[in-house]
Amino acid sequence: MTLHIPFDNSYSRLPDRFFTRLDPEPVAEPRLIAVNETLAAELGLTLPQDGAEIARVFSGTEVPEGATPIAQVYAGHQFGGWVPQLGDGRAVLLGEVVDGAGRRRDIQLKGSGRTPYSRMGDGRAWLGPVLREYLVSEAMHALGIPTTRALAAVATGETVLREAALPGAVLTRVAASHIRVGTFQFFAARQDKDALQALTDHAIARHYPGAEGPRGLLQAVIAAQAKLIAQWMGVGFIHGVMNTDNCAISGETIDYGPCAFMDTYAARRVFSSIDQFGRYAYANQPNIAIWNLAQLATALIPLMPDQDEAIEVFTEDVNAFPDLFNDHWGGILRAKIGLSTVEEGDIALAQALLTAMETGGADFTRTFRALSGPEPERARDEFTDRAQFDAWLPDWQARLAREDRSAADRIAAMQAVNPALIPRNHRIEEAIQAGVSGDYGPFFRLDAALKSPFDLAPADDDLARAPLEDEAVTRTFCGT
Ligand code: AMP
Ligand code: MG
Repeated sequence: MTLHIPFDNSYSRLPDRFFTRLDPEPVAEPRLIAVNETLAAELGLTLPQDGAEIARVFSGTEVPEGATPIAQVYAGHQFGGWVPQLGDGRAVLLGEVVDGAGRRRDIQLKGSGRTPYSRMGDGRAWLGPVLREYLVSEAMHALGIPTTRALAAVATGETVLREAALPGAVLTRVAASHIRVGTFQFFAARQDKDALQALTDHAIARHYPGAEGPRGLLQAVIAAQAKLIAQWMGVGFIHGVMNTDNCAISGETIDYGPCAFMDTYAARRVFSSIDQFGRYAYANQPNIAIWNLAQLATALIPLMPDQDEAIEVFTEDVNAFPDLFNDHWGGILRAKIGLSTVEEGDIALAQALLTAMETGGADFTRTFRALSGPEPERARDEFTDRAQFDAWLPDWQARLAREDRSAADRIAAMQAVNPALIPRNHRIEEAIQAGVSGDYGPFFRLDAALKSPFDLAPADDDLARAPLEDEAVTRTFCGT
């Protein structure tokens, strides 16, 4: 049996200036690290028993039948600075499949060699970011957050030069599409209205078939981003590099570079080593989403019949973001503290807990999870300064007394929204370190446990532990 992928490629039928056709570069010695069998089945792939063949295909060494490999072009604002041309510099889109649920999904190799968009880069990836994206994107999926997925990780048998010589790897990424805000910006900046129209039609047909025209698309993307960012914040996720080229039109989380989940809570928390001014800090993510969506709106203006009117209505649409976001965020906060009814002070009560956590040095995930247990007072143990929690607790208890559901129902509901397990930085680093020395055990263990983040096996308790002072990872890198 050979690896069969039922390709049905639509992006490669768009005009030539959307991409460059090229094959991925073969690698020296492809070796399969992991393949996501559940996802493969969902996509209608038949996986051969032979890991070697899977490794050849998902390293780009053998191009599967039906693939039309392309590197996509896009532009973007990176940290607010305009870059007129970016593009897949270390990735190749093999093609698309329509999955069992009728959804079109991209299959892309990341780390697959140089392309015309590589600029100074080598087109390759090292094992660290590949394992990191595999773990975190799959964890996000298990947490119920829209995201690109990881289909496979393959070691290349080649060395990649970064700060040191490191083992190379290729990640196979699955996405609803790889169309970014920056894809629209690329054509808008070139005043290529035909391309902009074709891209808009393609994006609508693919992601928002109910949307009418550019404005309908804009509104749909705004709504999707408002929900997504609220979901990120609900699990303490910091994307880290919310450039417009890393903002997917589909509403999926994309580009797991310097991302991280917070341990102790701080609204201004930043991990990325290159985010000096906290542009992409935890609590700044909604503001940055608005900034990015304003760029999308700007790119779509040329498609509107009346430019002045377009500016007016698009401004209105972008300005609707805070309300859309706050609806989701308020709902998430309410659920996280176990409220099923709505009272005026609820959001303030949840915010007061966040403030107490920040002042009291509490772990975000562990505090909410402890609060979801039968003995919620134990959440105080998560605080360095326990008085902060003790001051908040009576207000919460008083509010719970006005709820009309049983404690058991509340606990079950809270445990379904407050995960026990997140992919903590120090555990990811540990998995990467072991992987580099040839032991994928910690990677597999973490990946398996992260499949049920709301229901942790007692044997995996150690994975849910907060890092000790000397274990904490406070800086992350793009890893390119
Ligand atoms: P990212 O920071 O991953 O969003 O990437 C920003 C841009 O740099 C994109 O155009 C990437 O394709 C490109 N890039 C990142 N890493 C590499 C690499 N190793 N080789 C070539 N291009 C890269
Ligand atoms: Mg990117």
